[in-house]
Amino acid sequence: MTVYLDFKNARCKDCYKCLRACPVKAIKFENHQAKIIEEQCILCGKCTSVCPQDAKTVHAETDSVKALLNGNVPVIASVAPSFISSFGTDNFAVFRIALGKLGFAEAEETAVGAAAVTAEYGKLLESGKYKNFITSACPAVNRLIQLFYPQALPYLAPVDSPMIAHAKILKKKYPNAKLVFIGPCIAKKREAHESGLLDAVLTFEELKALFESSDVKLDEIAVLPGTEGGVKNIAKYYPISRGIIKSFPACPEGYEYVAVDGVERVMDVLDNIELLDKTFLELNCCDFACVNGPCSLLEGGAVKAGAKIRRYVAEGKGDFVMPSVEGTDLRCEFPRIRKRRIIPTEREINEVLARTGKNNPEKLYNCGACGYSTCREKAIAVINGYAELDMCLPYMREKAESMSFEIIQNSPNGIVVLDSDYRIAEINNRAKTLLGIDNTDAKGISAFDAFDSAELISALVENKNLSKKKVFINKTKKYIELNLVVLSEHKTVFAVMKDITDNVEYSEKLNKVKLDTLATTDEVIKKQMRVAQEIASLLGETTAETKVALLQLKKTLQSGETTEE
Ligand code: SF4
Ligand code: SF4
Ligand code: SF4
Repeated sequence: MTVYLDFKNARCKDCYKCLRACPVKAIKFENHQAKIIEEQCILCGKCTSVCPQDAKTVHAETDSVKALLNGNVPVIASVAPSFISSFGTDNFAVFRIALGKLGFAEAEETAVGAAAVTAEYGKLLESGKYKNFITSACPAVNRLIQLFYPQALPYLAPVDSPMIAHAKILKKKYPNAKLVFIGPCIAKKREAHESGLLDAVLTFEELKALFESSDVKLDEIAVLPGTEGGVKNIAKYYPISRGIIKSFPACPEGYEYVAVDGVERVMDVLDNIELLDKTFLELNCCDFACVNGPCSLLEGGAVKAGAKIRRYVAEGKGDFVMPSVEGTDLRCEFPRIRKRRIIPTEREINEVLARTGKNNPEKLYNCGACGYSTCREKAIAVINGYAELDMCLPYMREKAESMSFEIIQNSPNGIVVLDSDYRIAEINNRAKTLLGIDNTDAKGISAFDAFDSAELISALVENKNLSKKKVFINKTKKYIELNLVVLSEHKTVFAVMKDITDNVEYSEKLNKVKLDTLATTDEVIKKQMRVAQEIASLLGETTAETKVALLQLKKTLQSGETTEE
């Protein structure tokens, strides 16, 4: 199966923006990678246009077009009129020359086919048999109806799109040629492929790249006066909103003519189609219609682009000669396409909800963070294999919080987290024992009330990182080694307390032993001095040497002494 649109692997960052934007939820997540569900996708391109990672990958046909152009068969281009707003030229003669430089044998505007489509719509409307009449030029809308709105199928005009109509006209004119459609739409790729009438579709993005790689510059192409090629054809209005309605020389009577663009508004209309009566509906999935297609190259926005198209049509020279469509059948069918989605039972849905902690209605937050509008919708997607359990943000947060709670509670050290007002935001049982806090729920209590240690409080209010500070807790008679980390970004202080009471007591005992040894040594020196004085006269200078040696011994002992802090 050809994948016309997808996301680049490894670029996806699990933000679910694409899923939120997708009107029909035709995206699944596998191992944290978004993937388009081809058979349910209407190719509206909304998902890729919102992706912050620019992870769009459109089915590329540049190489197959190059192969066609290098072959022996003439290649004819059908160019959507929105080229004007994407390529900065309103002269189709320039465009034809540029395409000729790439190797195209001929190029025509798809508006030729659009004029034939409008004429066909006119015939159907005159029959008066339609309660409502939905135009069928946008393949994304057609697919939307075929897949999701079977109740609207009877109103969908059974008429080819301008691209297909033009392809049929070109096929008659150039029976042996290869045909390539060029436009701003991704959905046209699938439509062309399924029709079997066209050999390839290039998006404007692909054509721009081709021009660049072949060094074709539109602004350097000059045309002889009188060969501009513009002809007044009001079907060139097609790419703008209300363009189809404007393409009627005179709208057939008996209908109200309404144009709706943007997929959400289109869905709103389709949801309520039975409420409408004698309404002609021009529906386009893209906001502002095809001029703003997902592969257009707009500079300055869709409104400016629409204005360019209006001016282009208004300034068209000469009279458009309607091509002969005699013997060309422009009628087509849009059969219903059935979705292969599992419809789960209530029990199955509730089981999945329970696996993400949603055991009661209060837990159904319906926050939309996962990309689905409701928790229930997401549970159904999980059952269908389109979504993963851990896409639920509140569930993951609760899970992470309970995990960090377990880690904190089971730490052998005391842990306290204080907020910016020095109130206890988190405290574990070990810290409560060390600090002598009896309150079972100490959260929210001020550190100044809870901590019975001036030393600890002054360390806290200094608001500086601290490492291995020895602090005595009077209430519990414990010595703690305090490490403080100030998390300025979160306006919190993180304190880790290690019980060092045993170490301190041991080192105090050790110090005492040393001091006792020192005192004994002093006594020995004094005694020695007395003896030395007595025998000084007998030993002379030897006494002084003994003194030096003994004083050195004293100094050595003193240097090893551990002082109390
Ligand atoms: S928009 Fe979709 S594809 Fe793009 S990064 Fe977000 S989740 Fe991934
Ligand atoms: S192209 Fe449209 S229908 Fe298809 S996945 Fe993207 S948003 Fe959904
Ligand atoms: S609570 Fe979870 S499942 Fe429900 S909508 Fe929000 S993220 Fe989706």
